[in-house]
Amino acid sequence: MKVSVFGLGYVGCVSAACLASLGHEVIGVDVNQVKVDLVNDGKAPVVEEGIGELVAEVVGTGALRATRDVREAIRDSEVSLICVGTPSEPNGSLCTTYLERVTEEIGAALAERGGRHTVVFRSTMLPGTCLNLLLPILEKHVGGTAGVDVGVAVNPEFLREGTSVRDFFDPPKTVVGELDEASGDVVESLYDGLPGEVFRVPIPTAEAIKYADNAFHGLKIGFANELGAVCRALGVDSHQVIDVFLADRKLNISPAYLRPGFAFGGSCLPKDLRSLVHAAQRADVSVPILAHVLPSNADHLQRAVELVERTGLRKVGLFGLSFKPGTDDLRESPLVELAERLFGKGYDLRIHDANVSLARLLGANREYIENRLPHLAQLLADSVDEVLDHAEVCLVGTRDPAVLAALPRGGTGPMIIDLVHLPDAAARRAEPGYVGLAW
Ligand code: NAD
Repeated sequence: MKVSVFGLGYVGCVSAACLASLGHEVIGVDVNQVKVDLVNDGKAPVVEEGIGELVAEVVGTGALRATRDVREAIRDSEVSLICVGTPSEPNGSLCTTYLERVTEEIGAALAERGGRHTVVFRSTMLPGTCLNLLLPILEKHVGGTAGVDVGVAVNPEFLREGTSVRDFFDPPKTVVGELDEASGDVVESLYDGLPGEVFRVPIPTAEAIKYADNAFHGLKIGFANELGAVCRALGVDSHQVIDVFLADRKLNISPAYLRPGFAFGGSCLPKDLRSLVHAAQRADVSVPILAHVLPSNADHLQRAVELVERTGLRKVGLFGLSFKPGTDDLRESPLVELAERLFGKGYDLRIHDANVSLARLLGANREYIENRLPHLAQLLADSVDEVLDHAEVCLVGTRDPAVLAALPRGGTGPMIIDLVHLPDAAARRAEPGYVGLAW
């Protein structure tokens, strides 16, 4: 199929490259010229396992190209995947500005083009957004009825940053919210040959499923971290507790997101929890459990700050800055928040994150770092040793093998505060100069 993908961020870039490698003819569209140029040069605008190689391959064969020109993309494709961002507004509600804008642009291009085209929303959006907000925009431009003159579907994305290419080819599920059967058929055929069950559901159900996923992930992490904190205070190994808890065959609980570790963050879980809670409050529905997941997460981050304060040391090293390993994504990273708190308290800080350094070199996240985090940019060190040489105490927020290999053992070198439960945490616990946030 001829596919255009709007938004070449974490979701759009991965979707575009993977769809191209499945045999589709893909045009990526972004308003950001840097991302368009990177893709056309065969380079990925995000750092993710396998994405660099894949983009180089599919751009090389001509299966993927990028443009800023919406009309060109719509003219040359039969289906559009919308992957633009849906961040939080300051009051926690869902920001639909980018979705509305891109829908206006696609609608205008469709009005010129004529013929049937299917518009598929892959961005995360609250139930009702497609039918009540976006569909009328398309109908206004096309001058016809959605489901008849223009196909419309919602196809939420379940990738996890860090493993998103693998997740694309082995999805946990495929959800197709369809307005009409023909639109659903178009989406299903995009993923022909991929494993996993396909669920064809009404559009608002598809929108809500994504929130069920992310709210539950946040809830699980919060549960594991609170359990870890209580166990730590009582001198109990929380990982042993969780191991046995998970081994209960009859409970059949997935271990995903259920290991005590550091606070969660990123561009999805916090903002999706915020907009779900905001929507519930607007609908006058009391949701005390969901409303307390983010405050619980904030408390967990504060525990890490207190561990540093208790050492009485001032020269601090931080390993890891992106919101989780395997990505350069700094949006709402709890490690950024931790670094900012320590920096604000006057600690002498050095930070190392190999993926963030790599993306900075490529230029992919340079704008984000320079505009949003100029105060941290000056603290970034490109080598692990630079941080180890500087620090009296090191916070380890990553399992990057290069960092793990360099970390001193047996109390030699700086003190270690383990935020992520290192693979050798059990052995380290007996050593001097080691503290685990979750153990
Ligand atoms: P992102 O910010 O990385 O990428 C969005 C891209 O859209 C940017 O490159 C931006 O320049 C571009 N854009 C904005 N307006 C545009 C327009 N009018 N035309 C073309 N491009 C435009 O966002 P993301 O992380 O890829 O997330 C996209 C959506 O997918 C969000 O709704 C998010 O909640 C959802 N989602 C994200 C993930 C994830 O892990 N990042 C996972 C599942 C779902």
